[in-house]
Amino acid sequence: MVRVRGLHKSYGPLEVLRGVDLDVPAGSVTVVLGPSGSGKSTLLRTINHLEKLDRGHVAIDGELIGYRRSGDKLYELKEREVLRQRTGIGFVFQNFNLFPHLTVLENLVEAPVAALRRPKAAARAAALALLERVGLADKAAAYPRQLSGGQQQRVAIARALALEPKVLLFDEPTSALDPELVGEVLDVLKDLARSGTTMIVVTHEIGFAREVADTVVFMDGGVVVEQGPPAEVLDRPRHERTRAFLAKVL
Ligand code: ADP
Ligand code: MG
Repeated sequence: MVRVRGLHKSYGPLEVLRGVDLDVPAGSVTVVLGPSGSGKSTLLRTINHLEKLDRGHVAIDGELIGYRRSGDKLYELKEREVLRQRTGIGFVFQNFNLFPHLTVLENLVEAPVAALRRPKAAARAAALALLERVGLADKAAAYPRQLSGGQQQRVAIARALALEPKVLLFDEPTSALDPELVGEVLDVLKDLARSGTTMIVVTHEIGFAREVADTVVFMDGGVVVEQGPPAEVLDRPRHERTRAFLAKVL
């Protein structure tokens, strides 16, 4: 579903991604681990083209992201086309990023109506079903500020799902939460994983990676140092850098 090849990205002289390859099969969960500054967020942001790449390419479900191929040349897509592609790539941020002036239900209805031209009634019905799924049906009329961080993040996940994305990207979805609220958000992620949602999750929650990930990817210094099933990468890491990182977070 997601294919990343030879991804390079620099900010000025700083080379943040130095040739990343990644394959995420449909219905699988990939957990990305790595020290702060290793390029994890940049990787997610290039996958949905919030950042332009310098070299390499990203394809989702066989479709190049941000570019059109013609012969052996690549042409940049227009912003409108990129926005259309981005509706197929759900993104959940560390800090929820809900619209503060909209109710929970309005947060979920807005994009399907505006971007996908769904009829409002159908979008509302779908939104209510999603709120039910994340355990927040009773909060439809609340405003984000009236919710706990865990509840806001569950709304943000429901909002991402409302666009029926092909893949969901999570950038440290529990890092901003008080410890007692982490579990309720991870439970939603586990439910999505069980139902076959294709996901890439950047997180430091090793227990979650062990339980849910099909593949664990360890990044350091802008490259994938090693990847494989959790039992291999977490319990029998082959690289010293992976061992050193795990020793710190476990
Ligand atoms: P991670 O998510 O693994 O902590 P990031 O992808 O956020 O790492 O950042 C990787 C490196 O790129 C860091 O050194 C960071 O300071 C730098 N960086 C990230 N975004 C920008 C930006 N917009 N401009 C300049 N440097 C950036
Ligand atoms: Mg980050």
